[in-house]
Amino acid sequence: MSKATRRPLVAGNWKMHGNRADAARIVGELLTRGAGAGHAEVIVCPPFVHLADVRRQLDGSRIGLGAQDVCAEEAGAHTGEISAAMLADVGCRYVIVGHSERRALYGEDDELVVRKFVAARRHALTPILCVGETHVERERDETKVVILRQLDAVLAAAGIAAFATAVVAYEPVWAIGTGLTASPEQAQEVHALIRGRIEEKDDTISASLRVLYGGSVKAGNASELFAMPDVDGGLIGGASLKADEFASICAAAER
Ligand code: PEP
Repeated sequence: MSKATRRPLVAGNWKMHGNRADAARIVGELLTRGAGAGHAEVIVCPPFVHLADVRRQLDGSRIGLGAQDVCAEEAGAHTGEISAAMLADVGCRYVIVGHSERRALYGEDDELVVRKFVAARRHALTPILCVGETHVERERDETKVVILRQLDAVLAAAGIAAFATAVVAYEPVWAIGTGLTASPEQAQEVHALIRGRIEEKDDTISASLRVLYGGSVKAGNASELFAMPDVDGGLIGGASLKADEFASICAAAER
């Protein structure tokens, strides 16, 4: 399966931004602009408290819904947490796991990320597994080691078959929210590394796996990033809060 047969995916990670009115406005504008109406798959990942409202607003549209995080536990006494079953029940199809902000600010290690990945799949949610190196790690030439460590942790625990219904997002930490973007060549190099590791285990799954790029993607740089052979779309932070910009990024994934 070549790039042409993998359906591009553009996911908007709203992070902790926006009230209910903002959420309704962004979704309304995306629908007006026809985001999600083409071949590329488009999803938005609002904060938990907006999921139900956004789900209702998206009814009848082809824009999908994802969450930004999930609890590793099934249910029970976990004050403040949201389970995979709850996310599935509210209409999510995707969930981001292992975002670098969760890893850096909330102490999530590979072991917890693995448990979240597995919890998501138990409830038929597609995990969007984020991997990425810091600036210091890139400077030390440790990019490959870090990416493979993060990926191998999930492969070892969840097994290769789990990647048949998963998405991987390469998000260099130094490019997230900084305005710095990996060059298309830098992104391609790491995307090929990720796909190559999966290919060592199963070449069919590797060929169908969607690997997204994330890190300061904008309307102005999306096309060149998405044109790379192993880049299958993007995970978009800041620019997903501006409906016109996000719609342009979605359009770039059509080409
Ligand atoms: C992200 O949060 O996943 C992200 C890529 O953010 P930004 O696009 O703002 O760099």
